[in-house]
Amino acid sequence: MNVTSQETYETKDGLFAQVESTNHEQIVFCNDNATGLKAIIAIHNTVLGPGLGGTRMWNYATEAEALNDVLRLSRGMTYKAAISGLNLGGAKAVIIGDAKKDKSEALMRKFGRFIENLNGKYITAEDVGTTTKDMEYVKMSTDSVAGLPESMGGGGDPSPVTAYGTYIGMKASAKKAYGSDSLKGKQIAIQGIGKVGMHLLELITKEDGIATVSDINEGSLKHAVAEYGATVVSGDDIYGLDVDIFAPCALGAILNTKNINALNCDIIAGAANNQLAIEEKHGVMIKEKGLLYAPDFLINAGGLINVYSEVIGYNRENAMRDTENIYDTTLNIFNLADEENIHTQKAATLIAQKRIDDILNVQSTY
Ligand code: NAD
Repeated sequence: MNVTSQETYETKDGLFAQVESTNHEQIVFCNDNATGLKAIIAIHNTVLGPGLGGTRMWNYATEAEALNDVLRLSRGMTYKAAISGLNLGGAKAVIIGDAKKDKSEALMRKFGRFIENLNGKYITAEDVGTTTKDMEYVKMSTDSVAGLPESMGGGGDPSPVTAYGTYIGMKASAKKAYGSDSLKGKQIAIQGIGKVGMHLLELITKEDGIATVSDINEGSLKHAVAEYGATVVSGDDIYGLDVDIFAPCALGAILNTKNINALNCDIIAGAANNQLAIEEKHGVMIKEKGLLYAPDFLINAGGLINVYSEVIGYNRENAMRDTENIYDTTLNIFNLADEENIHTQKAATLIAQKRIDDILNVQSTY
């Protein structure tokens, strides 16, 4: 789950000015009075393939907030797919409304009709506020949907693969920082032990890493203590812990000035999306503090790799194997960041953008 963050994106006056500044290809506003559907599909870039990104249902305070969120998230998907070597572009959708009250089969089927009208340019999947069941309804209107249950030939819950990729990225970070990628004896703080964080905790403890966790869900904390012997801290105490690795696996935009100042670790490597509150400012701040930051959109790409596998013919083993490429890519990014003296998120974005530009050049010569 992610909170929307106005901080992460510069907002411009005027719809086209905003879309132009983020370089989006197409924005689709979907309205249906009968079902109450109000959705925005943002297709950021389709140079590498159809734009794939989940549908988020959220009770946005304003329509501007919904638009801001979908623009920010779809751009992130472009870079996540590009850096992961997938033949996918970036897109995302948001449905404005309360997922508990406003969602219905009819609404999801109608939403599927809008996706179908895009002729394969956008492929949806589940996200915050939507479930695999909702994707089954969407599937009744279009084949441009992934993230289906295993019973329907889909990949099921992508979280274990996301956790595995995060673990691989964490090991690559340890290799860079300590010369060995072993997590044995490493002190690791995990913020958020939900679907991804709990799997990550399992992988870390299997390797004899020592975990401290925080969460707002008492049941999850009890499970982490009983099953994995984790130590628990509450609230913001997680930031100031004297640990080797901090793994944000709950909310976005938590790497802000206050929290970065509090951090007492060598490495930041976690699964949460959009961890840097203000990308450039906080990317630089982390670098200047001497911390090694594993870019979130790279190391949490396991879920997308799993969903992509579904698009091309699902195979969990292949998805896990492809996820292991995160190790080398993470090290390449660290090396580029060193060579260019730039922060690691910037290095990751440059590598992703270069792949898109290279393919665009090839396409323009057909
Ligand atoms: P989740 O909702 O299952 O888990 C999030 C956990 O964070 C919950 O247990 C929640 O109680 C906890 N939490 C919420 N606020 C907190 C706080 N203030 N302090 C500590 N804990 C708090 O979500 P998830 O699927 O595990 O995803 C975790 C993060 O990873 C999200 O940012 C998500 O966008 C990102 N992500 C997930 C996937 C995936 O495959 N699930 C893929 C890519 C990125």
